[in-house]
Amino acid sequence: MNDTADTTTGVTISRCGKCGTGYYPTRLLCPNCGANAMKPDKATDAVVEETTVVRHNAGQQNWQPRHLATVRTPENQIIVVGLEGPAPRGTKIKLFEQGLAPYGRA
Ligand SMILES: [Zn+2]
Repeated sequence: MNDTADTTTGVTISRCGKCGTGYYPTRLLCPNCGANAMKPDKATDAVVEETTVVRHNAGQQNWQPRHLATVRTPENQIIVVGLEGPAPRGTKIKLFEQGLAPYGRA
């Protein structure tokens, strides 16, 4: 995690201004209704579905294991986020962004 990057609450999604469906990653056209009326919105909560730990990275010194999770928002968006530590399946997390990268904390 890059501690110098700006941290903001929630992960940016796009939401259709016509039908209201939200998407992650962001879309330019709504697959639901075909409108090009996407507006940025935030997803702030999610539930952990799967986790993995990245233990090695070729060529990196002092590599610390990184926890990643596949999480699902209440709107069924699937987002792969970095976690601050291990979190079992079913854990409710709060989403945030550091720079442009999505993260979650329990
Ligand atoms: Zn739409």
